[in-house]
Amino acid sequence: MKLASLLVVPAALLISGLVLAQDLKIPGVAIASPVRKDKVVLTTAEWQKKLTKEQFEILRAKGTEPAFCGVNLDQKGEGTYYCVGCGLDLFFANSKFNSGTGWPSFYKPIDRDRIWTHTDRSYGMVRTEVNCARCDGHLGHVFNDGPAPTGLRFCMNGKVLKFVPKKAEKGHSGN
Ligand SMILES: [Zn+2]
Repeated sequence: MKLASLLVVPAALLISGLVLAQDLKIPGVAIASPVRKDKVVLTTAEWQKKLTKEQFEILRAKGTEPAFCGVNLDQKGEGTYYCVGCGLDLFFANSKFNSGTGWPSFYKPIDRDRIWTHTDRSYGMVRTEVNCARCDGHLGHVFNDGPAPTGLRFCMNGKVLKFVPKKAEKGHSGN
């Protein structure tokens, strides 16, 4: 049993890697860091000071949290998910769905200008990396096996999202 369960994960990754071996271009979403007036640019030392070690590892070093680590995974209720790096509002809770992957999943960002994508060829796969448009932080990846209406699955690292419930949002700056 133990060996079987150990083999399931690599097999699933391999299969999804083969099926999803393509780079998504989402209409209206930039494929390079967009110019913004509110851009947040910090030095590595400043990011290390601002973020926790885990947040830094994901946002600034393109790390991936373990599946089912729990942060924001089962978060429910109305509200908004913000980037922990810069406070940009990225996803509304009403676009969140249970993908069963172990990572918080959304079918769309609040707007296409909240993110930009980049072809990620690491680990022998071709995936589409999703970055924050304001601080260029790595958020996760997007796949084309999501639900209607977009058919997209934004597979995010819960540790780099800050959820603010709707009732607490009045006057919230995202920081
Ligand atoms: Zn950000």
